[in-house]
This record gives sequence, structure tokens and C-alpha cells, in this order.
Amino acid sequence: MKQVARQARAEGRPAGFVPTMGALHEGHMSLVHAAMAECQPVVASIFVNPAQFGPGEDLQKYPRTLDADRVRLEEAGVSYLFAPEAAEMYPQGFRTWVNVEGLSDRLEGRVRPGHFRGVTTVVLKLLEIVQPQKAFFGRKDAQQARLIQQMARDLHLDSEIIVCPIVREPDGLAMSSRNAYLSPDERRAATVLHRSLDSARRAIEHGERDALRLTAAMREIIRGEPLAQTDYLELVDAETLEPVTRLRRTCLALLAARFGATRLIDNLLIEEREGAFLATL
Ligand code: AMP
Repeated sequence: MKQVARQARAEGRPAGFVPTMGALHEGHMSLVHAAMAECQPVVASIFVNPAQFGPGEDLQKYPRTLDADRVRLEEAGVSYLFAPEAAEMYPQGFRTWVNVEGLSDRLEGRVRPGHFRGVTTVVLKLLEIVQPQKAFFGRKDAQQARLIQQMARDLHLDSEIIVCPIVREPDGLAMSSRNAYLSPDERRAATVLHRSLDSARRAIEHGERDALRLTAAMREIIRGEPLAQTDYLELVDAETLEPVTRLRRTCLALLAARFGATRLIDNLLIEEREGAFLATL
């Protein structure tokens, strides 16, 4: 992979890169399409990164569909698929970790200690291997995208980090490889995340600016769904990820909830535009 990347750079056509954990769906493919529109060649990676799973999480049962994924990427026009083994990425004696301080221990990082250390470490390694001009990430994982942008800035990385919109099912559920774990009842219940965020979107459209009122109303909607257990629900500054009391600049409503054994995350992007706030699911 390094040889291919070096060659492409030498020929003046550095790659676009889409890192994934596989079990590909339309959310992943939207990143591939965005990369195809801007870069040639496009490299995708599939690596279920053990370092970002905690003890008792779903590393073993995480869906693995490599053959189908390979066909899908090839049909979309991806030139290279990088799918390393864990032992190749973390050989015996591996001991260097990247940690984005502060941003990594809030929200998702508080519920999943060490998760983001695993994410930023593997993403830095992948960026070093693939040497892309642009790397594409989904806003579905908004905190992750924010950390990776911070890492790229702090470490003077050559790759531009591009964050793409959330792709949703027709009923609003954000696409995720983990949706496959949901029972039919849980799958129906899971739409509550989208409904909760959408209620905030509408309230903001009607002029609501108070973060506590917005989060209280969102929480109430999730509480109405007996199969959902909220892990966190916060309205934060998109830059610092610190909670805000009133909407300002760019904010994110971030939430995580469990449906049985399955944990799902979703978010709403709230941007200030000429004094008005525009909320995007
Ligand atoms: P994963 O395979 O879950 O690690 O995701 C790989 C990349 O795809 C990450 O940048 C995710 O944010 C992105 N992604 C996952 N689901 C979606 C979605 N529904 N919409 C947009 N991007 C997504």
C-alpha cells in the first residue's frame, strides 16, 4: 500500500481515502462517491480496529462482509482496497499511541474509555500508509470527525480532512453497520433518535435558542420509547465539544442510546447563518 501511495504521489495524483470498518452501506458509499468526485485514485480501507473496542464491546461479533464489500467498492470505481490484518497493524511490541487530549474523554469517550485513542492512532497510521491528499469521514460520527480534524491540525498532517453528511434510512434512522444487530422491535424503536433530533430541528426553526429547553424536550421524546436507554444527550459547541446554554456559532446536539445490547449514536448540526440558525439532520 505504501508503495502504491508513493507511486501515485510521484505521478502527481495523490489519492482520496475512505477509511472504514467494512460491512458497507450507503453511508460508507456516500464517502466513496464524494472521494471519486474529487480524487483519482480512490483508496478505501477495511479494518475492524481492535484498539478502539473496549472489553465487553462487540469486536468479535462486529459484522464482517469482506467479499461483498470488495465487489461493492470495485463496482463504485475504487482503485485500491487496503484490508490489513490486526497483527500487521499492531505487531508485537507496538507501543505508540495518539491521544487528542480533552476532546477524547467527553461524551462518547466517557462512555467508551480508550475508544478515541484507538481511533486516532489507527487513523494516523492509515493516513501515513495511504498518504492521501484528502480523507473522507462521515458526520454520523461527529465527535470522531472533530478529533481527527484536530489531530490533522496539531500534527501538521498533509491530508485534508473532509466531513460528509449523514446518510439515513427512509424512516430517518442513520445508517450504521450496527443497525444489523437490532431486533424488529428495537429497529422500530431506534427511529426515536431521529424523531428526537428532528423535534429540536423544528424548535430551532421556530426560534428556540435555549439549549436546556431543547435538550429537555429531546430527552422527553426518548424517554417515551421504553426500549431506548439514553447514554448521553448534549448540546455542545462544535469546536470545543463543551456544553452550551444558548445556541451560538456552530453547535451539535449529540446523543447515544442503547436498544437492548446495541448502542447507536446520532446528531444534529446547528449552524449560524446571518443571524439565523440552520439545523441539519
Ligand atoms: P465505520 O465503518 O462505522 O467506522 O465508518 C466509516 C466511515 O463511514 C466513518 O467516517 C463514518 O462516520 C462514516 N459513516 C458511517 N455511517 C455513516 C452514515 N450513515 N452517513 C455518513 N457517513 C457514515
